[in-house]
Amino acid sequence: NQSGSTKRIAIFGSTGSIGTQALEVIEANLGLFTAEVLTANSNAELLIEQALKFQPNIVVIGDDNRYAEVRDALKNTDAKVFAGEKALEEVASMDCYDLMLAAIVGYAGLKPTLNALNAGKPIALANKETLVVAGDIVMRTAYEKRVPVIPVDSEHSAIFQCLVGEVRNPIEKIILTASGGPFLGKKPNFLVNVRRDHALQHPNWSMGAKITIDSATLMNKGLEMIEAKWLFNLQPDQIEVVIHPQSIIHSMVQFQDGSIKAQMGLPDMKLPIQYAMAFPRRVANDFPRLDFRKTRTLTFEEPDVRTFRNLALAMEALNKGGNLPCIMNAANEIAVYAFLRNKIGFLEMTDVIEKTMEKVSFLQQPSLEEYYESDGEARNYAADLIQL
Ligand code: NAD
Ligand code: MG
Repeated sequence: NQSGSTKRIAIFGSTGSIGTQALEVIEANLGLFTAEVLTANSNAELLIEQALKFQPNIVVIGDDNRYAEVRDALKNTDAKVFAGEKALEEVASMDCYDLMLAAIVGYAGLKPTLNALNAGKPIALANKETLVVAGDIVMRTAYEKRVPVIPVDSEHSAIFQCLVGEVRNPIEKIILTASGGPFLGKKPNFLVNVRRDHALQHPNWSMGAKITIDSATLMNKGLEMIEAKWLFNLQPDQIEVVIHPQSIIHSMVQFQDGSIKAQMGLPDMKLPIQYAMAFPRRVANDFPRLDFRKTRTLTFEEPDVRTFRNLALAMEALNKGGNLPCIMNAANEIAVYAFLRNKIGFLEMTDVIEKTMEKVSFLQQPSLEEYYESDGEARNYAADLIQL
């Protein structure tokens, strides 16, 4: 049901770091893609600007209070404007688009993505929290509906690209690379004094605030281990993390003959975004190229999980499974937003997550409803700890 050769893309979270870069990819490839649906949480200004430029059919603003503003600004266009969380979920189920780019941040991305899968829509998945919270249900739905979930996260895109042509060859293990973030090599006596603005400076990537903090605490790599488990159907002991500060190798796959494939390039999210949107095609572009005469050293080291305890907590959640990743994710979202508002310190984020993981009741095989409940319970408990 694609209209001619153009893929109609629904960007959920179009005003974010991933969303705006996806629109750049669309703009450079107007014969291949159109922006059919654009959604934002509260940034009405940017959403309006994007809608005037890309002429989508549907625009959704999450925040009801900004509805009138968006509707009025777009009254001379063909765009239908909706507001609120329910509208976001309903639009995901509509038939008017070909591919959802799931680029909302956090738990809020789960329901729209599930609705899209249930409607038989392929997903280009940036929103890793969706798989951390309810990966079993999300992947089962995709399998039952026979629709692909194509990773956008650079590590998972790398692995996905390494797996092209390897359908019959099992993975021995994957090696997820991590930049180490801005505090690589630092110890707790340094981290205890880290403030928000310092943690928001990532050495290699410019991203949204939440994932930037997750990268500084290494929680991002923990979330990515769980994301990889579901995307590639792996056992926890098949997922290894290695620190690679240059962010040139985006991740690797080792096969049963010991051969390792890596995917490389300069760190630029537009490449995995474009790859996911155009899959199985590769599309020519003018992004800067890697020059091995300038990038002469690639280094690797073990992650320091004693200092960056979030990664150890995520490994525990990965190993135990059930609703523990969901609980961890909820506590982490609360902790990160509290840190961003200067309510707690850098190391206190870990304490909040650990205590919440100990407190909320463990379920080995939760239903979707039970995931929602565990998320709510964990959020309340974490917020109480911080006295929000
Ligand atoms: P961001 O904060 O820059 O943008 C988030 C988008 O989601 C915005 O459009 C915002 O309006 C929308 N949004 C936020 N909360 C919402 C809510 N409650 N309801 C509806 N919409 C909401 O985030 P980002 O950096 O673009 O990241 C998006 C997702 O992609 C995250 O899950 C992140 O982990 C993942 N990701 C991002 C990058 C990156 O380079 N930025 C890389 C890999 C993976
Ligand atoms: Mg990543």
